[in-house]
Amino acid sequence: MEKTELWQTALTKIELNLSRPNFLTWFQGTAITSMENGVAVISVPNVFVKEWLQNKYHKIILHALRELSGEVKEINYNIGKADSSQTSTLFKENFKKKYRTPSPTDSFELGDQSIKEFSVNPDTNLNPRYTFGSFVVGSFNELAHAAAQSVVNNLGITYNPLFIYGGVGLGKTHLIQAIGNKVIESNPNLKVRYLPSERFMIEIVDALKNQEMNTLKEKYRSVDLLIMDDIQFIGRTEKMQEEFFHTFNNLYEKNRQVVISSDRPPQAISTLEERLRSRFEGGMIADIGQPDYETRLTILKAKLEYKKASISEEILRFIAENVKTNVRELEGALNRVLISARLSRTPLDTEQAKKAVANHLAAPKKFISAKKIIKAVSEFYDIEERDFLAHSRKRDLVRPRQIAMYIMRDELKISYPSIGEKFGGRDHTTVIHSCGKIAEELKVNSELEEELRAVKEKIFSL
Ligand code: ADP
Ligand code: MG
Repeated sequence: MEKTELWQTALTKIELNLSRPNFLTWFQGTAITSMENGVAVISVPNVFVKEWLQNKYHKIILHALRELSGEVKEINYNIGKADSSQTSTLFKENFKKKYRTPSPTDSFELGDQSIKEFSVNPDTNLNPRYTFGSFVVGSFNELAHAAAQSVVNNLGITYNPLFIYGGVGLGKTHLIQAIGNKVIESNPNLKVRYLPSERFMIEIVDALKNQEMNTLKEKYRSVDLLIMDDIQFIGRTEKMQEEFFHTFNNLYEKNRQVVISSDRPPQAISTLEERLRSRFEGGMIADIGQPDYETRLTILKAKLEYKKASISEEILRFIAENVKTNVRELEGALNRVLISARLSRTPLDTEQAKKAVANHLAAPKKFISAKKIIKAVSEFYDIEERDFLAHSRKRDLVRPRQIAMYIMRDELKISYPSIGEKFGGRDHTTVIHSCGKIAEELKVNSELEEELRAVKEKIFSL
């Protein structure tokens, strides 16, 4: 196989392992420039992409190439200008823009009927829904909460940086954004910026590509409060650690506040450079644990009050007793019960609620299959399974199809081509388009979110 063709084919395989935005970020502008003695030389646009491919995608790339050509033994990554003709068809610009622009709105349910939308502030990236007011404090998070309060009242002075760590769904993002929202509220003149570390990386890659590194540096070095979420990903590339280190030092020297979250303590981020680790350890490190039963119950009641909904104490206790892992799960179980109640249109009895929670708990991902998804979705929308798989473009068939495809991808992580196969041999680009459409719409349409939840409920009940 000729090298351009080899790389193009490999990319179509690699793409299946990654989300579309990730694929675009890391593989655009790459090419195989030579293939000699079993060594494939892949040219990449800059050092940052090089490190990332080496550290994160090397196995996937090697595997994809080996599957196609027994010749490939080794890969070298080389910074250089790529011949874009090797990949141009895979990277359509408009598609990329659509996916990369963060959605400005994040909507969620408030009260039984009313839907209120909260917009993410484009200057700060903060979501106003995350406040101290809606944050429940218990022994599992009281240290982190107290430290956060102290940071708000003594910005840049007492704890710098503040490093908060804990498992998934335990309120890290909520708490660190609450700091930002509170600071802005008490002093609108201060500059606050929130960003997840993965977004930081994408911004660095873009800045390198467009030669806008100085603008990027200026953007983050001029803030009064920098909030970096999920910093554990920073260890993956040296370039990013370096950028962050300099930004951090710059802010630190000016007594500007830095707040960081991570899924583990600094010493457990194995690839973290010593100089960054000691910086983190020089500030305040606070963990968030798991909420106990009483706190779980308090959280449920707070959420319920916020939603202006009501559920019997018995059902709440049942949820609190059974959903122990984290706050996100707790919210999920509560929503499930509320939705069941709405669907049945009668007050929920305890048995029904238990069933809804049990379905949620079991989250029997292993037991759902593509077949079940098709069955449930066609039943839900009251269409014939046969029509569903046929090549008709009737509007009332198109939508359910897109939803079924989206759920397959989301829940089962099946590749796009095999989803296409399950829908009467549709092309994988159609599938990508369908999944993308639903994903985009979900960001701004909370009714669709509900619809999806109800559809999933149906799937899980089969
Ligand atoms: P993490 O960033 O640790 O994965 P999040 O901050 O995204 O977790 O929290 C997950 C969900 O749980 C969010 O909807 C958040 O509002 C909610 N949540 C987490 N902790 C609390 C808390 N202490 N009080 C109220 N809601 C919380
Ligand atoms: Mg988070």
